[in-house]
Amino acid sequence: MTVLLSGRWSAAEGERWAQLLREAMPEERWLLHPPRDAAEAAAVEVAVVANPEPGALSGLPNLRLIQSLWAGVDRLLQDPALPVGVPLARMVDPAMNEAMVHTALWAVLSLHRRFFELQAQQRQALWQAPPQLRAAECTVLVLGLGELGGRTAQTLAGLGYAVHGWSRRPRELAGVQIWQGEASLAQALAAADIVINLLPLTPQTRGFFSAERLAQMRPGACLVNLARGAHVDEAALAAALDRGHLRHAVLDVFQQEPLPPDHPFWPHPQVTVLPHCAAQTDPRTAVPQVRANLAALRAGQPLAHLVDRGQGY
Ligand code: NDP
Repeated sequence: MTVLLSGRWSAAEGERWAQLLREAMPEERWLLHPPRDAAEAAAVEVAVVANPEPGALSGLPNLRLIQSLWAGVDRLLQDPALPVGVPLARMVDPAMNEAMVHTALWAVLSLHRRFFELQAQQRQALWQAPPQLRAAECTVLVLGLGELGGRTAQTLAGLGYAVHGWSRRPRELAGVQIWQGEASLAQALAAADIVINLLPLTPQTRGFFSAERLAQMRPGACLVNLARGAHVDEAALAAALDRGHLRHAVLDVFQQEPLPPDHPFWPHPQVTVLPHCAAQTDPRTAVPQVRANLAALRAGQPLAHLVDRGQGY
């Protein structure tokens, strides 16, 4: 098959992925975007993409599969020229899942045991032990119980935290109290000491953490956003932190990335900034996922991890 590789990345990163994919699948013909002519474009059956430029996938009349190398496809779905009717598969990478659980775990432990405050105290040579709450006395709400949220919720439950989870459809997860749908959201938010956002970015979840939603959170609660920056009204979050309604925010994703140097979150004492590194696609485990889906396509078998375009995730 002819496979087109297209991404919004540095030339070096693109070349690295091209080399890894070619080595793993030498039987395929790999092209780097853009195709040289109409004949090459007509030969393309699969596009392997990493947030390509809008319009990059138009003019490919025989495209049969769009395979994303990244887990989130929100940017891809915003491309008005994205071919309709072509299956779109996203990346579900075991190594990325594991990394996300680690980041969430670090954030929860740091917030629960007040390690961020202790770090600040060290800079002031202040010797002062915080209260030691048990994990069971700390309620963690995980928003989104998919690949990443589901694993995160179960890991935290295994460590003894009082874990609640919220999703669109009913779910069952051992040790996790499930809340489902809009009607239960205010109650779920009000019950949580730590809220972890692992929702996909869709028209329904854009701007999810509005001033109103943040006000529904329990006074003194903490927000951990590991999903997408557009989920959060940043000015409303800063206001909620400044007036003491929320205690701390751990943010891996932002409205504008990289976070501009003059952004008020950088120096904010109640904000921990991460440079969108909570979990990255690991080529060692991602490339075999691509290979498996290409093999399924060739054999006419079901494709893995297809996106429901209507739902946006
Ligand atoms: P999934 O698609 O596997 O899971 C999404 C979950 O969110 C599902 O449980 C789904 O509910 C729930 N959900 C979706 N819409 C709604 C809604 N309107 N109301 C309530 N629940 C909803 O996503 P992933 O776990 O793979 O990814 C989660 C997020 O993490 C994404 O935003 C992704 O972009 C981001 N991400 C961030 C990374 C980083 O480094 N910061 C790295 C990788 C991903 P249901 O189960 O009912 O369908």
